[in-house]
Amino acid sequence: TSVAEILDRLCATVPDYPKPGIVFKDLTPAFADPQGLRAIVDAIVAPFAGQFDLVAGIEARGFLLAAAAAYATGTGVLTVRKAGKLPRETFLEEYALEYGTAALEVHTTDIAPGARVLVLDDVLATGGTVGAAVRLVDRCGGDVVGVGVVLELEGLGGREALSGHRVHSLQRLG
Ligand code: IMP
Repeated sequence: TSVAEILDRLCATVPDYPKPGIVFKDLTPAFADPQGLRAIVDAIVAPFAGQFDLVAGIEARGFLLAAAAAYATGTGVLTVRKAGKLPRETFLEEYALEYGTAALEVHTTDIAPGARVLVLDDVLATGGTVGAAVRLVDRCGGDVVGVGVVLELEGLGGREALSGHRVHSLQRLG
């Protein structure tokens, strides 16, 4: 079974969540499926095989992907966290939400100089979230070798917002 078939079968579509007019894609059934999780993780790292030392996962669903991907490839995990959760000195990058802003943080010393970093998240929409994570890796002295997401929601400008970076999505939805 291909990863595309698995996602077709196991990605839930939730109309009007978290608010009216939004169609939310819910990957939890795919993560809960033994073949699903493995197929997703294998496919998300495949184009970058041998090209990264560290996998950056964005809180919270990106953590699942990053931990599994790092374990499978013998690399490490960088936790890119929502603001206010990390105990030591951090860099902070804000990004736009529909209303207002949010921010992500990483510890300033968690990336070895020149480390090659793969950034993972579950869904790419406007690219604001992944964009902030990419800027954090840059500020820490890491080298972003690519971005991997399970789902890319097309037409929201995410890929364009990350121009200059390799963006690999397992499924594009328009
Ligand atoms: P962006 O910053 O607009 O690209 O939105 C991506 C972020 O919002 C990611 O961290 C996703 O987890 C989350 N997100 C946006 N839309 C969805 C969705 O339909 N399903 C699950 N997560 C979503």
